[in-house]
Amino acid sequence: MEDTETQLGQYKLLLDSAEVGWWEADFVQRNYICSDYLIHIFEREEEALSFFDFYYLIREDFRDLITTEFLSIQSADTYEQIFPIVTSGGEKWVRSRLCKREFNESGHCVKALGILQVLPDMGSKEGKIHEMIDHNDVIFRKLYMNLPIGIELYDRDGYLIDLNAKDMELFGIRSKRDVLGVNLFSNPILPIDVSKKLKEHKSVNFRLNYPFRKIENYYRTSKIGELDIVTKARILYDQKGKPASYLLINMDNTEKTIAYNRISEFENVFTLVSTYAKVGYALYDLYTFEGYAVKQWYENMGEEDGTPLADVIGVYSHIHPDDSKEIRAFFEKVKRGEAHHFRKELQVRSGDNWKWICANITRNPQSADPHKPEMICINYDITELKVSQLRREKAEELDRLKSAFLANMSHEIRTPLNAIVGFSQLLAETDNSAEKHEFVEVIESNNQLLLQLICDILDLAKIESGTMDFKLADMDVKGMIEEVLTSFSIKMPDKVALLGPSIFPECQIYSDRMRLIQVLSNFLNNAIKYTSEGSITLAYEIVDDEIKFSVTDTGEGISPEVQAHIFDRFYKGNTFKQGTGLGLSICETIVDRLGGKIGVYSELGKGSTFWFTHPYSFSPNAKSPASPNPGTI
Ligand code: ADP
Repeated sequence: MEDTETQLGQYKLLLDSAEVGWWEADFVQRNYICSDYLIHIFEREEEALSFFDFYYLIREDFRDLITTEFLSIQSADTYEQIFPIVTSGGEKWVRSRLCKREFNESGHCVKALGILQVLPDMGSKEGKIHEMIDHNDVIFRKLYMNLPIGIELYDRDGYLIDLNAKDMELFGIRSKRDVLGVNLFSNPILPIDVSKKLKEHKSVNFRLNYPFRKIENYYRTSKIGELDIVTKARILYDQKGKPASYLLINMDNTEKTIAYNRISEFENVFTLVSTYAKVGYALYDLYTFEGYAVKQWYENMGEEDGTPLADVIGVYSHIHPDDSKEIRAFFEKVKRGEAHHFRKELQVRSGDNWKWICANITRNPQSADPHKPEMICINYDITELKVSQLRREKAEELDRLKSAFLANMSHEIRTPLNAIVGFSQLLAETDNSAEKHEFVEVIESNNQLLLQLICDILDLAKIESGTMDFKLADMDVKGMIEEVLTSFSIKMPDKVALLGPSIFPECQIYSDRMRLIQVLSNFLNNAIKYTSEGSITLAYEIVDDEIKFSVTDTGEGISPEVQAHIFDRFYKGNTFKQGTGLGLSICETIVDRLGGKIGVYSELGKGSTFWFTHPYSFSPNAKSPASPNPGTI
């Protein structure tokens, strides 16, 4: 017994010198027996302190919480509370820890034994909290922002220093004040293995059905019942690699399930929509192009499903080079912060053809890391739409041109007709032979023009109905050229010379002589129309297995913009000159049907060369290397 007393005395001494006080709560007497150290701290004389007196030692705003909490501890054997007490020496933060309890036969707690410690630098706990928050500010702020998950931050000793709004909502915590300072490791619902792992500095994930009745005395919570919560506990380290704080991330599993269901529902719908509407989706890193894309996205891009994104994006082997250049330029702009969104209709090679897709690329505004921008790309196939749109545009254009043509035509026909009628009358009225000659000439030329117009329109009608016929026969090219030169030599304006080829190679081909003359005449008539001085040269040469015919003038030339359209139907580059805008388009059809190609070289102000080729071919009856389609084509 004496030994025990001595031992006890020694323990007391040890505890006192470690500045740890002990207390024994007597629930029958409703008082505390305190160690000398505690008596000293509490500034008391006698070793017993009534519950009532102790209540008034606690700082006012903590009194109710601490006492109710303490009195309602039921299952936990060890339990910890941190609170401020007020003494004449000022405010002191203490940590009181329940160590042991004794129960009577009816199961009521009659005695409790615990220790109490004055926290050394807890003079201003709030100050410490702020210091800790500052320390973790960057991480914490970031995590805090609008997260649908609860976050709790504890200091290195496990004291709660901050939590976010979602966490308060999850646990029904009314005010931060109700929870700041509670200790993670004495939280009654933290499983032992979890706290063990955390103490060993290991991060851990665990799942709990949080029993609120268990923590209602721990936190001041308004929640009742149970909640399915998935928690991730993480350790945050300081620069020296030592644990600086603990982070608890709480996810409401029920909510997560709902959200998850919603996502998979959305995903299903999206897949459905995506397959039907051919909508593809990709998400990737702007710099590394690493990311994820759905099957349809690959298909729209003309790529094999599953190809690493870095081999597709930026490379764009199937996208039209002009389009891919624009996308790459857009990425550079995003990197410089000058652009965020890109939308364009792109041409994608698909086998031998081109298909159309519409691509929307946006910088993901919710990229987790602002230094690693993510790009979202939504693309969809618009080929059908585009083809019908192009068809419609072409039809509209044709319609517009036809209307313009009709309006133009009435004018074009009326002009020579008026001249013919008017000069015919004058011719009938005059006896002067010189005048007569002049009037006949005017009538003749207008007759020609009218005839040309009517021929063109008839040809166009034949082309439209697919009944333009060709009478193929063996023919002499040299003879034809000489004939054309002769007939045009009398039409030449004063200051323009008509020249022929320097040599006239002998050559026989199998073709439609009249149609070839029609094309050459059209070239020559145009050359005369647009050349006021200089020369017009009609030439032909044999190049490989083709004959190339050309008409070169030193006239006004044609701008590249006009050149792009001169073979279009009804297109007139110069509205001041007489013409139908049909000639070259008819020439193109003829040359094409005879198996050749047609084109122009021209420079504004310097003149033009119109050319076409014809296969150097022989009659099918003659022994020849190549032959065009015989008879009417
Ligand atoms: P048009 O009957 O109006 O001459 P074409 O189809 O023969 O119709 O020619 C289309 C257009 O091409 C002309 O309106 C003109 O602008 C341009 N063009 C054709 N030949 C020449 C040329 N030798 N020099 C300059 N422009 C030309």
